[in-house]
Amino acid sequence: MDWARREEFASEMSKKPRKEEMERDRRIRRAKMWEKHGIGQPAWEEEVPDGVAKADAEALSHVKTHGELPRFYIDRVFICRDCGSEELWTAEQQKWWYEEAKAHIDAVAVRCRDCRKKAKEKG
Ligand SMILES: [Zn+2]
Repeated sequence: MDWARREEFASEMSKKPRKEEMERDRRIRRAKMWEKHGIGQPAWEEEVPDGVAKADAEALSHVKTHGELPRFYIDRVFICRDCGSEELWTAEQQKWWYEEAKAHIDAVAVRCRDCRKKAKEKG
């Protein structure tokens, strides 16, 4: 690899995480705004905006609730219980959590990824 190529490669490598970080910050800011002001009346029968995922009622059939099932998942922000860092819980992650992992509908994310890993290792 020549030097020019190598530098290009190095800058690509360092650019990517920063871009992801910015995207995450952007989603956190938006989620906070939604939490504060409400997201408005959802009228997303066909297409949902970025940061929102449609719920699949059939995949939620394990949920026993007297309340209504969610129709949408919306990006949320939470504070990690262990380290206090501000974390984004994306709509896609929520969908996976409830529909694939079949979590209880009241169960929400409380720890960041690092602390979840640490808690798991501790047993
Ligand atoms: Zn944490």
